[in-house]
Amino acid sequence: MKRQDYYLNGDSGKMSSDGFYISKSKAFIIVFLALAVAVGVGIIVHFAGSAVNVECVCTFPTTDGGNSVGETAALELCKTWASEGYTDICSVCPNNRMSSTISTRMTRKTITTPRTNTTSGSVTTTQNVPSVVSNVRLPTALKPLLYTLELQPHMYTMNPDEFTFNGSVRILFHCMENTDNITLHINQLNLTGYISVTHENKIEDLYQRHEFDIARQFIIIYTKIQLIAGRNYTVDISSFVGPLVPGLSGLYISSYTREDTKIYLATTMMAPIDARKVFPCQDEPAFKAEFDVTILRKESKKAISNTPLAQSVSRGDDWVADKFERTPKMSTYLLAFIICDFNYTQNTTKSGITYRAWSRPEATDQTQYSLDVGVRILTFYEKYFNIPYPLPKQDMIAIPDFAAGAMENWGLITYRETAMLYQPGVSSVKNKQFVAIVVSHELSHQWFGNLVTPSWWDDLWLNEGFATYMQYMGVDHVHPEWKMFEQFVVDLQDVFNIDGLISSHPVYVPVAHPNEINAIFDKISYAKGASIIRMMRFFLGDDVFQHGLTRYLNGLRYDVAFHDDLWFALGNQSLAEDNRISNVKEIMDTWTLQMNYPVVKITYNRTGQITVEQHRYLQDPNAMDPGKYTSPFGYKWHIPFAYTTSDDKWFNVNSNDVIIMNKNETTKTISKNSIPAPTGNNWVLGNPMQYGYYRVNYDDRNWIALTEQLKSDHTVVHVINRAQIIDDAWSLAKSGDLDMSIALRTTEYLNKELDWIPWSAANNQLGFVGSMLERHQLNESFTKYMQNKTSSAFEKVKLNSTGTTHLESFLRSTITNLACSYGVEACVDEAKQLFAQWMSSPENNPIDPGIKSTVYCVAVAEGGIDEWEFVLVQYRTANLADEKSRLLEGLSCSKQPVILSRYLKMAIDPNEIRRQDSVSVIVHISRNTNGRSLAWEFFQANWDFLSNDFAAGSFTFSTLVSGITSLFNTQFELDQLKEFVDSKASLGSGERAFAQALEKTQSNINWMTANVPVIESWLNDQGY
Ligand SMILES: [Zn+2]
Repeated sequence: MKRQDYYLNGDSGKMSSDGFYISKSKAFIIVFLALAVAVGVGIIVHFAGSAVNVECVCTFPTTDGGNSVGETAALELCKTWASEGYTDICSVCPNNRMSSTISTRMTRKTITTPRTNTTSGSVTTTQNVPSVVSNVRLPTALKPLLYTLELQPHMYTMNPDEFTFNGSVRILFHCMENTDNITLHINQLNLTGYISVTHENKIEDLYQRHEFDIARQFIIIYTKIQLIAGRNYTVDISSFVGPLVPGLSGLYISSYTREDTKIYLATTMMAPIDARKVFPCQDEPAFKAEFDVTILRKESKKAISNTPLAQSVSRGDDWVADKFERTPKMSTYLLAFIICDFNYTQNTTKSGITYRAWSRPEATDQTQYSLDVGVRILTFYEKYFNIPYPLPKQDMIAIPDFAAGAMENWGLITYRETAMLYQPGVSSVKNKQFVAIVVSHELSHQWFGNLVTPSWWDDLWLNEGFATYMQYMGVDHVHPEWKMFEQFVVDLQDVFNIDGLISSHPVYVPVAHPNEINAIFDKISYAKGASIIRMMRFFLGDDVFQHGLTRYLNGLRYDVAFHDDLWFALGNQSLAEDNRISNVKEIMDTWTLQMNYPVVKITYNRTGQITVEQHRYLQDPNAMDPGKYTSPFGYKWHIPFAYTTSDDKWFNVNSNDVIIMNKNETTKTISKNSIPAPTGNNWVLGNPMQYGYYRVNYDDRNWIALTEQLKSDHTVVHVINRAQIIDDAWSLAKSGDLDMSIALRTTEYLNKELDWIPWSAANNQLGFVGSMLERHQLNESFTKYMQNKTSSAFEKVKLNSTGTTHLESFLRSTITNLACSYGVEACVDEAKQLFAQWMSSPENNPIDPGIKSTVYCVAVAEGGIDEWEFVLVQYRTANLADEKSRLLEGLSCSKQPVILSRYLKMAIDPNEIRRQDSVSVIVHISRNTNGRSLAWEFFQANWDFLSNDFAAGSFTFSTLVSGITSLFNTQFELDQLKEFVDSKASLGSGERAFAQALEKTQSNINWMTANVPVIESWLNDQGY
């Protein structure tokens, strides 16, 4: 899956007239809850009426057979649900009112009274209500072999409240150990038919009874006799019904508009744990099986799935059953079904794979680029992995409503529109690169993740770290001129920031609860995972790395893996090829089993010799360790160290230059003739190309020599290491390892810097300073300093010329953004002029796509309601998704609180802003000085709604929490944050994000105290 930061996953929720929050999908949950409580602990449930409104009344008994087990159990269940973010449900079971009556009006038109048992005859149904869910894993007695699944979405009226789907499933199992039950996952599905269990070729029904374990999302089907190891059995679930809502997970509804008519499509997002919302199944990645899928659709629509269509059969009344070819052995989270009216463009790869790019018909002309790069990258991977793509076809499809960036469903990759659609001349080069990257990422998953799958979500990083690394390799193959491997360090430096916090987590992290699974789809799994893989390729060498991957993939194809499998494959490959580094596991365990990373301090005070030592980097060394993770290695790492000097200036390092610094070595002395005398402006530089996942520190003299080198001729230092010097210095200043005045020195040369990567690093670090100083008296002189540093680069790139190279366009975007935001007059004037030109002739937008974001923001910030309304109209009418994103961002730049408040309200109104974009809008408003406290107040005031709708099964809620709090830097803000956190019984899936927010705010406050005086005197010295 490709993350999409600042975007939202959630379904619609409304405030009903009696003030009770309920969303359509939650209605099902509440029904389930009511049911669970009713059958489990004897609480009475009445369903009064079944037409337009259903009233559900829960009356808690005062006793349950003379004791209060029922009450306790009910409360525990509520707490479990609440901890998952369903706080609306918890309000059904208030903590202290066990006899109260609560009425809930549901907007769903018809609700079938749920029946846990629909077999003929009376069967006992009971409910487990564990007080603490400690183990959510399925029993392993049964191994699924084949699913025969049929699904029928009903979405053909104009009233989405009536939408639903039904289905049936037959699962063939092989019994591994004797057992008396078949345990499957199920979530938000209502069983409406019968269940039967048969031994192969026998007709006797072995079904006895079934029960639900709601907390674990299990249905447990008991059999009359033991199932015997070594035999095959079939379970049939003849009919189930599920909600078809715009929930962005499971099987859900998306829509788009054509001439004021809403066109609906049904689509899926099963990852990580939502296949169970679509059909009862063993919804864990290790339970791989084959699938025979049939989708029922009306003749007006098309159906697509993982494999090619095998046959279509009419079922009468306009219904057609599309049966798809049997899938390879695969995990449930990779299944996909889409019913839509989309069109496609098509190509064929050299190896004969049919490759189609689907979109809504209006956007088909935007699919050409992703189709082209897709075909080329798929072919490249077949060669690189030396394993053919396992399916006969590959479909990519742009879905109008999508929570993540994209999802790697095998043979049917789903994308957010911005991640797949590209229109030359309208989309920016950044959008183009984003499309290429996401396509490359998802295609690499077809091997990494789909062919070989982590056996459990704790090794998610194996999937995502690899795909994130491979995305650079795939794009580099198609566009070598984009210098993707140089750009890599932008991601590396980004994740360094998060991984420098004590609230970080190890790459390999034990997870059990669904909230924990969703929470690890974060930058640590993706970008840190990719960074340590890049480091591994560096110390192993390209050939061993490539051949080792093939060994790993071939050895475990159609199977599952643990990270040790990868270490052994690479270690054995190294043994077979050059026998240099075979203890891959020993080295890599230090990078995956403990969080954070080291600083290598280089001591350099003798000619011909340096000494290195390591310590753990923490942005705030005094931060309190929450104690969630302990390091098995005492926060010491096996470090593949490399360096160069002012005499060598050798940046093209490879595996032969690596010196492994053992985790047990307190110091290591390295002697080499080419190390010059530690005098004058001679320098040593550690970590050339920043291949290693560590920072480097030196004594002040060496630091000053490096900054003098940048000032006299920065081009002798590789562009990556110019970025590294800035990023390391500023981060070490943050943690107190380095004097802030040294960090400030690294920016002095910037008026000569014309490369994007160092500017990107500077932008991140100085952007932070700028945000911290925004409301401080020092803001004025810092602004002048920034104007001075950006003006020469701005002179070069200007606003109205088109970049000659890809990276120059990136530079233009960054520099114009900096120059305009620090008020460089030429920039602001030009931006306003361009915007005015556009306003006077809306049909002809004269603004270069790469600088549109800046221009829209300047125009809205400097303008009034007219400019804002103009951008809003453009947003509403734009056909290209990434243009819509830029316009949405531009709208957040207004300086007027009235406008910003209006915009915040719009952000959670699905008629105004798509659900997927809500978080992005709120976070952007919070980044605006004038919007920061407005966004925070809005967040608090709408907590119930936001935490319910954004938190359930979503990692975007964390993004919202960290986004709106990231610039907090006053004691007042910290107190408010603490007070808010303390006031909540549960923070749901936002728990980690809130812990990080508290730490980040404290660290920002400390930063202000320590650094503002230094910055002030340094700016004074510089004459600002
Ligand atoms: Zn991914």
